[in-house]
Amino acid sequence: MSDSQIPLVDLKAAHAEVADEVRAGFERVMANTAFIGGEEVREFEREYARFAGVEHCVGVANGTDALELALRASGVGAGDEVVLPANTFIATAGAVNRLGAVPVLVDCFPDSLLIDPDAALAAVSQATRAVVPVHLYGQCADVAELVGALPVRVRVVEDAAQSQGASRDGRTAGSGGIAATSFYPGKNLGAYGDAGAVLTDDEELAGLVRALANHGGVAKYRHDLPGFNSRLDGLQAVVLRAKLARLDAGNAARRAAAARYDALLADLAAAGRVVLPVTAEGNVHVWHLYVVRVTGADRDAVVGKLNAEGVGAGVHYPAPVHLTPAFAHLGHRRGDFPHAEDAADRMLSLPLFPQITPRQQQRVVDLLTGAIN
Ligand SMILES: *Cc1c(COP(=O)(O)O)cnc(C)c1O
Repeated sequence: MSDSQIPLVDLKAAHAEVADEVRAGFERVMANTAFIGGEEVREFEREYARFAGVEHCVGVANGTDALELALRASGVGAGDEVVLPANTFIATAGAVNRLGAVPVLVDCFPDSLLIDPDAALAAVSQATRAVVPVHLYGQCADVAELVGALPVRVRVVEDAAQSQGASRDGRTAGSGGIAATSFYPGKNLGAYGDAGAVLTDDEELAGLVRALANHGGVAKYRHDLPGFNSRLDGLQAVVLRAKLARLDAGNAARRAAAARYDALLADLAAAGRVVLPVTAEGNVHVWHLYVVRVTGADRDAVVGKLNAEGVGAGVHYPAPVHLTPAFAHLGHRRGDFPHAEDAADRMLSLPLFPQITPRQQQRVVDLLTGAIN
């Protein structure tokens, strides 16, 4: 990769680190024809559970299925209300919708952009069955506060798709409840296709998820309840095992790169032209994304200028859930979730991945400075 082209996420650099191991693993899977489930999947589930600090990891087909399965295993069904932040990737709301449940949106904190637990608690009604805190951009929302304050009938189902390796006050996603994660290629731990997992300490919930995701039973041709098909395949498990062995180092490199951006952007921030990302107290952040807010210029114009120079700046996400056509039926309007809306209008994700070099970061900041001024 030349220094002038800087992608948002450099998947080629990530592949180069594991290429030999992945090829050898693919040969193993092909020799055993263990294409769905099998030894590699079992080993990965065991390794990821240990990494994530939970008792059980159930590999599934993608992160959206993982959310749907975690919600279903938690008792969420048609007509139930599920509270979630307005500022998230659309899949959080999509999974709720697929269950026939109703997404109830709430606003985020204006600084960290994590779900505001007070807003979530205020949105709980008699019909609420779950709250889904989203560990956005790589840092954990305040799950402890939610768990402590919610009525017992309301379950906490964490969306940990962006927070692999993150923790808050020593607490990891899924410990004490249930969490869903995604191994979409661009995530901190990415497969070479779609993949995801459900994480929990609860053996019964794990078993239920495993059954639901395998046509309703853990053994072949045994169907204890109506399920569907959402399984992790052996080739993806090979990739995930190879990358998992490097995830702590990769997350540390992301933290170092984020600190470097903070330093390089300090003058722009002091001048009030950008707002730097804020880490909530107690978090070990894994920097899935480095999201600044542009206050001194038109955000879309700035993104356009960076992209024109070969810098893969992005926007995560251009519209909060309630302002997407897909969820217009919820009946919200602009102004309902001002923090989420303001963030969506100004946010800008800068390239960040474990292999990014100081020179690449300097170029990003130089171009950003030029685009804003
Ligand atoms: C990626 C993502 C998902 C969905 O994961 P897929 O594997 O793409 O289905 C859900 N929630 C959040 C916050 C995500 O970033």
